Amino acid sequence: MKELTHYIGGEHVKGTSGRFSDVFNPATGEVQSRCPLASSEEMSRAVEIAAAAQPAWAATNPQRRARVMMEFVRLLNRDMDKLAMALSAEHGKTFPDAKGDVQRGLEVVEYCIGAPQMLKGEFTDGAGPGIDMYSMKQPLGVTAGITPFNFPAMIPMWMFAPALACGNAFILKPSERDPSVPLMLAELMEEAGLPKGLLQVVNGDKEAVDAIIDHPVIQSIGFVGSTPIAEYIYGRGCANGKRVQCFGGAKNHMIIMPDADMDQAADALVGAGYGAAGERCMAISVAVPVGDETADRLIEKLVPRIEKLKVGPYTAGDDVDYGPVVTAEAKKKILGLVQSGIDQGAELVVDGRDFSLQGYEDGFFVGPHLFDKVTPDMDIYTQEIFGPVLSTVRAASYEEALKLAMDHEYGNGTAIFTRDGDAARDFASRINIGMVGINVPIPVPLAYHTFGGWKKSMFGDLNQHGPDAFKFYTRTKTVTSRWPSGIKDGGEFNFKPME
Ligand code: NAD
Repeated sequence: MKELTHYIGGEHVKGTSGRFSDVFNPATGEVQSRCPLASSEEMSRAVEIAAAAQPAWAATNPQRRARVMMEFVRLLNRDMDKLAMALSAEHGKTFPDAKGDVQRGLEVVEYCIGAPQMLKGEFTDGAGPGIDMYSMKQPLGVTAGITPFNFPAMIPMWMFAPALACGNAFILKPSERDPSVPLMLAELMEEAGLPKGLLQVVNGDKEAVDAIIDHPVIQSIGFVGSTPIAEYIYGRGCANGKRVQCFGGAKNHMIIMPDADMDQAADALVGAGYGAAGERCMAISVAVPVGDETADRLIEKLVPRIEKLKVGPYTAGDDVDYGPVVTAEAKKKILGLVQSGIDQGAELVVDGRDFSLQGYEDGFFVGPHLFDKVTPDMDIYTQEIFGPVLSTVRAASYEEALKLAMDHEYGNGTAIFTRDGDAARDFASRINIGMVGINVPIPVPLAYHTFGGWKKSMFGDLNQHGPDAFKFYTRTKTVTSRWPSGIKDGGEFNFKPME
């Protein structure tokens, strides 16, 4: 059995806690390696190394730090296929989707090449007589991030690229379900020229996370994952005086207006609902057609598209639409929620429960499901399913559809499909959700904008990547300076009273 490591002080280090978790190949169901689960002592060792390495990195000029990012981009492109293959093997997503995972992280690294520009301070010449005032953006010191299984390349890069570009050291605690790509990324950063000890990967579970939250040297925590854990880390991290940003779960609604192009809406829903087996925080999990006639037309268009979906292993190439879910436990949870939907009276229009793939009977595959006539009191509506299950909630009017999305506790992403600019504009303006698509089902902002939800999808005030990341990973110091007049004024010859 392959034993994975931590990456501490520029070396692969074996776990010493004696605790491990299994890493599966979700397509076959086999355990392919063991991931070490760090103790708080192992975390402390990494923090010590990071604290020793960080001051010299902070003193390295931002342009030189940016050059490391430039080289890292080149290496990511060089190793794209290798990274994507390792990612698919542990996560289960298709190979092209895994490349997208790396790519969307890479784009944030590219943005961080602009660090010298982003880190320029402010200066007021002559704030008072002979007084100048200037503000500098300085790194925090040792920073840390805790990431989810569903984007094992992208989300770590969203955190460590800006943290490092700003002059911090960064400790990554990736998901224990797919830790190999984060380890590869840390190696690549060093190949790109990052000094040892600045980017370390400490694998683990709650014990490692608690060690981060309680460590006095760690200045900030970035978290992405489910809402209960986000809330826990935010509360305890803030109580410990750290800067914390936590991004949680989602239940993204797509409103389909009667005037929408129904083929376009159905295509969008199938991609956004079932892509990556629904394991995306920006997946659409609720379709809200406005009016019964719209709902009937939508379902009629959706069913044949869903029935045609190809579910298979990442090794099957471009021919597969989505792969298995991440663990047997995830599969069980999804199928349990499907059963609850049936029990609570929703209409299961496409039933994927009996799905099985020849040769991969032990893989964690879940067939696609489509529910109609879901109501807001059902568990399949209130809970995040995080699987290939799309729920349709019929709304009688635009106002009812809007209210539905607004009343849901999650507020990550949403979309409206319509040909009516007035409805789209009203929706974008009134909705209490952080990321909005207009005829775009998965409105993930690009690297130079910021990413973040509202309500229970986000705890904190600054978003991920874009300009917010440079604010999150720096703190401002403002200097007021006055110099006594010097020799430029020449000698003083007259005997004068003190002024
Ligand atoms: P998760 O909450 O189970 O795990 C996330 C991280 O927290 C992992 O590193 C894990 O080891 C750690 N963790 C798990 N249990 C813990 C505990 N009790 N105490 C401390 N740490 C713990 O999430 P996941 O299953 O890996 O990822 C899926 C979730 O992430 C979904 O809810 C999804 O919506 C969400 N997500 C959100 C965003 C976003 O930007 N809002 C992006 C991606 C994923």
